[in-house]
Amino acid sequence: MSDIQRIQCLIIGSGPAGYTAAIYAARADMKPVLYEGLQPGGQLTTTNEVENFPGYKDGVTGPEMMIELKEQAIRFETDVRPGFINKVDFSGEVHKCWADDGTEIHADTVIISTGASAKYLGLESEQKYLSLGGGVSACAVCDGFFYRGQETVIVGAGDSACEEAHYLSKLCTKVTMLVRRDEFRASKIMAERVRKTENIEILYNTETKEVLGDGQLVTGVKAFNNKTNEEIEISCTGFFVAIGHKPNTDIFKDYLKLDETGYIEYERPGSSYTNVDGVFVAGDAADKTYRQAVTAAGTGCMAALDAERYLAAKH
Ligand code: NDP
Repeated sequence: MSDIQRIQCLIIGSGPAGYTAAIYAARADMKPVLYEGLQPGGQLTTTNEVENFPGYKDGVTGPEMMIELKEQAIRFETDVRPGFINKVDFSGEVHKCWADDGTEIHADTVIISTGASAKYLGLESEQKYLSLGGGVSACAVCDGFFYRGQETVIVGAGDSACEEAHYLSKLCTKVTMLVRRDEFRASKIMAERVRKTENIEILYNTETKEVLGDGQLVTGVKAFNNKTNEEIEISCTGFFVAIGHKPNTDIFKDYLKLDETGYIEYERPGSSYTNVDGVFVAGDAADKTYRQAVTAAGTGCMAALDAERYLAAKH
């Protein structure tokens, strides 16, 4: 038989959005329970150095920052649990959620902060240097600064890839963009901006075969032309992947309004309200535009304040 727990506030996900929501909800005495999810700490745990989060004047590593956020949430007695929520039922006034260990939770409010996952190519060499923090990244705004004055390669042809290539072009001596078809997916204006940037070289019909390195750091990329099969090696110190993100929202699709790519839609602009009363969203699960730790933290705060006011109005 499953163990049913009745609580005021359930937070799903443990990135900056979830922990910030937890800090606010705990300090408001909502006794939040937070499930860490499949990737405790979220996307920041794959980021080496975070230099753009206000307050860390000397920078901080992503994993360190997430440990500090977790400890701050626990300091106010957030019940942080390993494991993940794998099923929800938002059809009633009480929101039912099930954890992977069989616990059934009945919550007055739920804050969804399940984030999004950057897509990667899935090559073994890519994953190796990603896990080593050796020069593979899915976020130019986060990591581009470390490659200033150096050469980088970026994969992708959508708006994100164009935006990130342009961002990198201002820091790097050269950016090589690998586009797998003979055209961009990005909007005309974004693609045009990239084409007009002198230090961006675009290689069409080109795919990545291997990320090259010295065992610790990236030194180049082996790519091939998918029309001619010709192979080339491009020297670089940073390999950026910008082939899209997938919001982690599958379990909510029967209850919440999602856009065509799966991002949760806000019911009221400028708030964290979803279309279900008592269910709020924070961070990248609803944000395909900014995707920054600081914006996720900001919306986490909003979600906790909205949840607190929702509960206060009910009692
Ligand atoms: P998209 O899904 O739009 O584009 C992904 C790109 O990655 C495509 O060009 C795709 O190629 C390429 N790709 C996918 N898999 C691979 C692979 N295995 N190897 C090589 N290339 C691959 O994702 P984005 O993140 O760019 O954009 C998501 C949404 O956000 C879009 O609606 C976009 O318009 C929006 N956005 C808007 C911005 C703005 O307006 N400022 C900024 C950023 C995003 P192919 O084309 O061949 O399928």
